[in-house]
Amino acid sequence: MESRGCKSQDGFSNTLFKEQKPVLTQSPAAKIIPRDAHPISRKNIDREALKVMYRLRDGGYSAYLVGGGVRDLYLGRTPKDFDLSTSAHPGEVRKIFRNSRTIGRRFRLVQVFFKGNHIVEVSTLRSSSEYDLEGAVLPANNTFGTLAEDAFRRDLTINAIFYEVGNFTVIDYVGGVDDLEAGIVRLVGEPEKRLIRDPVRSLRAIRHAARLGFSIDPATWDAIAVHGDKLLLCPDSRLRDEICRDLRGVAASSWSELMLKSGVLAILLPGYGKLAAADYRDLPRILAVADRIHKQGETLPDHVLFALLLLPWARAEFDLYHAPVRGQDAFIFSRNLRAALDAQLCHLNISRAIKEEMTVLFSALPMVKAFARESDWPKKFRNKSYFSEAVSFFRILEEACGGPRAGDIAFRKPVAAERGGGGRPRRRRSSRSRQRPAQVSSGRRGGIFGLK
Ligand code: ATP
Ligand code: MG
Repeated sequence: MESRGCKSQDGFSNTLFKEQKPVLTQSPAAKIIPRDAHPISRKNIDREALKVMYRLRDGGYSAYLVGGGVRDLYLGRTPKDFDLSTSAHPGEVRKIFRNSRTIGRRFRLVQVFFKGNHIVEVSTLRSSSEYDLEGAVLPANNTFGTLAEDAFRRDLTINAIFYEVGNFTVIDYVGGVDDLEAGIVRLVGEPEKRLIRDPVRSLRAIRHAARLGFSIDPATWDAIAVHGDKLLLCPDSRLRDEICRDLRGVAASSWSELMLKSGVLAILLPGYGKLAAADYRDLPRILAVADRIHKQGETLPDHVLFALLLLPWARAEFDLYHAPVRGQDAFIFSRNLRAALDAQLCHLNISRAIKEEMTVLFSALPMVKAFARESDWPKKFRNKSYFSEAVSFFRILEEACGGPRAGDIAFRKPVAAERGGGGRPRRRRSSRSRQRPAQVSSGRRGGIFGLK
């Protein structure tokens, strides 16, 4: 970017926070890229996000577009959301925007509401990420920071670039612009330290490399390989949400390649650690079908996504296509499969209902396969409430193996949490209130298909 006319300047000192001890003893130099030397145009920024930034500026504060919004705009992609950072404290932001509320416990964010349920989230510049902190109780305001500090607390260099709406400049403390130009995903700071502080950053690095088709910097990659197992120290539900985000993120296929290669998938799903490479080489092709479906705007529900993710393991471990379909054998088979799923998914806090739905999809495979080429399904099978899901699941697998495109797939509609695709914490619903699987056969009455 030097060639584009970037100039260097000492980091912005944030006069509003003079009384606070900065984490960085000296403000590092930032690259300031003027409007004519970067591709970000205001016309691609959400109108409401612009409004919020202008009003903060008129109120005497600085305001920046940050994170994935800047990264995606720089690359000419459409951002999923526009996150803003400001020098104003949450209370000050709230005074400017009456139509707002504060959320978050340790790090308070302000959500500004606009018509049509549109929300713009504004965070105050911070000196550290919530995941870099130790101890549950924090003195009030001790985490606010300067622009430079806010850049260094972020996960990846490409996610730590600011866009300043007053001068239309891009501000980069961490070499993120160079990495965007070179197609590199790199953790901010010392990779080992940053991963130990928050192991989920390895998932985030893999996610963005997969999504953008970037390569992962060798030091970051090595740290992921060495410290991947620290992921198991993170809350299961956080891991689950992150994985769901990737399975729905339309780059699940390349994501799975990186997850397999780095060994991270085998850490989260231990069965993958025991498989031979030949057993799981289909996984990227299977998830490519999920990507195709998601790109068309459909959303596959969680049980289908996790069944696709675990299919190579289940196939290798259980010889799925030749499983018994009736009688006591079918019952025992389903019970063993269900128990094995418990063990596989023990790090991801997957609800019992989802595991049962997965068991049904897997157990139905031999039956669907047997009649796949015939329209004349056994009536008892056709009458099962899971019939169309079982057939749809099989069609996805056929497409993955080079068969015809899975046409009319019919799965139950994902519930709100499944559509959400991660992001901000959502209120958890009890597993009882989740939509139940259409029917889960216990196998007691003649096997999974009820056939005698
Ligand atoms: P997406 O396009 O999926 O929204 P994103 O990079 O914007 O990608 P978010 O989850 O919206 O992802 O996070 C917003 C920003 O917050 C990130 O760009 C990054 O700067 C910062 N961030 C998120 N998670 C972490 C983390 N675990 N550690 C440090 N910074 C983080
Ligand atoms: Mg984002």
